[in-house]
Amino acid sequence: MVVSCFMFYDWVVVGSGLFGSVFAHELVRKGKKVLVLDRREHIGGNVYTESVEGINVHKYGSHVFHTSDKRVWDYVNQFADFNGFVDSPLAFYKNKLYNLPFNMNTFYQLWGVRFPKEAKKIIRLQSEYPRIFEPKNLEEKCISLVGFEVYEKFVKGYTEKQWGKSCSELPCFIIDRLPVRFTFDNNYFDDEFQGVPIGGYTPIIRKLLDGADVLLGTDFLEDKEYYLSHCDNVLFTGMIDEYFDYCFGDLEYRSLRFEECTLDTSNYQGNAVVNFTDKLPYYTRIIEHKHFEGTVSSKTVISYEYPKSFKRGEEAYYPVNDGENNRLYSRYFELSESCADNVVFGGRLGEYKYMNMDEVIGEALDLVSQFI
Ligand code: UDP
Repeated sequence: MVVSCFMFYDWVVVGSGLFGSVFAHELVRKGKKVLVLDRREHIGGNVYTESVEGINVHKYGSHVFHTSDKRVWDYVNQFADFNGFVDSPLAFYKNKLYNLPFNMNTFYQLWGVRFPKEAKKIIRLQSEYPRIFEPKNLEEKCISLVGFEVYEKFVKGYTEKQWGKSCSELPCFIIDRLPVRFTFDNNYFDDEFQGVPIGGYTPIIRKLLDGADVLLGTDFLEDKEYYLSHCDNVLFTGMIDEYFDYCFGDLEYRSLRFEECTLDTSNYQGNAVVNFTDKLPYYTRIIEHKHFEGTVSSKTVISYEYPKSFKRGEEAYYPVNDGENNRLYSRYFELSESCADNVVFGGRLGEYKYMNMDEVIGEALDLVSQFI
């Protein structure tokens, strides 16, 4: 469907995820008329949450907000109260549970060591032969950091099902996301600020979009030429290769599928997230949503998270930022800089960049400041 009174809008924002919603909000604050389009039937993109049995369900997987950027923390706190939730997932491997991220609790569970120097010694022995000076891929990076046993038990199986590729083909930076600590500290993140918004993420997005017109179930690309010729400014947060009709070829993405069940028990696994780090089962995580907010209920909702390959027309979750894809992205980026369209790109898919929520907000604020 095409909006008829089109000339009325200063901006069309494509995508109502975090990037698009922050961008739209800042424009509206400055008095701009903004139309937000989303292909999906709901706002919020992948941070969308929905109440099921009174429990706020993270429909597209666990989203724990964390940042060390005070500007971003203050910004999101305008729209919600965050609880003090600290992400501390568990790893399940061959019928045993271990703490994550890799820390003294994990090393104690693995080797019975009590002191950091004992853990360090084992890791040194396990990463010494062959000594890897300049890791070229995720496997080498991980072994050089934590030794082969942690790699085999907690990283290899999980990562290969998550990405659908061998760890020796994946870039190092993916594993840099996980802290390694020699203290007894199960906090998954090193950031200064952390929490989950009380009431879920959807109310934040609703507040951000207040004052903008929103059309759901509307695919900008189906009427791209019309929008471009009738509107002065467009922000596009979808896939950049799709925007350009895949003219240089397809960028690679990884997708996910969720299986959600409501169970007649008040507490299924006792933790928000359990990672399954062996090759099997095929799912990577079970999320038990009520633990994010400590919701009291006689029922519980859990989601099994299955990684899957991505095909055109499906939901892309993760850009695969290896050398080849990054080179292909650079060509699309150059095209976006040189093409005459009145469009700017942003977000995980528009910038083809594996970003956390805080980075997405920071980038949206930076980009929009160039226009207001
Ligand atoms: N990872 C792993 N084992 C785990 C958890 C994570 O090997 O139990 C690796 C995996 O390669 C994953 C990466 O660490 O892609 C980043 O994990 P994170 O939980 O930060 O990813 P996200 O929540 O964005 O999927």
